Amino acid sequence: MKPAVEPVLQFRPHHFFCTLGYEGKGYSEAFVTRFSSLANRLRAHPSGDEVVLEVTLFSDSICEPCPNRRGARCDTHSKITALDEAHAEVLGLKHGDRITWAEAKTRLRERMTVEAHHSACAPCGWKSLGVCEKALLQLKTENVGTIQPRTGQ
Ligand code: SF4
Repeated sequence: MKPAVEPVLQFRPHHFFCTLGYEGKGYSEAFVTRFSSLANRLRAHPSGDEVVLEVTLFSDSICEPCPNRRGARCDTHSKITALDEAHAEVLGLKHGDRITWAEAKTRLRERMTVEAHHSACAPCGWKSLGVCEKALLQLKTENVGTIQPRTGQ
């Protein structure tokens, strides 16, 4: 039997990093429920790595229940646009690109330095919590694909 094909999720550029550091806070109960569900789906190992994310410069799968959403845009449009432009530049993303969550994590690990994070995320009110920087540093120290030496039998 062929494996089920994962449906494509829409992600705006700054939400790739937001999802990496997400710890269950948000703008409303419905928003938190949605974001928690998507974040848990992507973090499920190993199935989450195969989920395909399509880059959009408009409201995405996370934004849908947000109280600040106004159609395809946001109440705080200029702030969100600045975040999207900065994150798209750092991660090399453009509208319509499709990448897996595994590829998104690789780009975050290789391209998002701590300095780039502080610059790209500067307009964000959540940055001062430090959870995104912590998640980034954790991602960078994961020994993905390496073999751990063992002793004994
Ligand atoms: S600081 Fe804000 S914009 Fe940056 S990754 Fe965290 S939640 Fe997203």
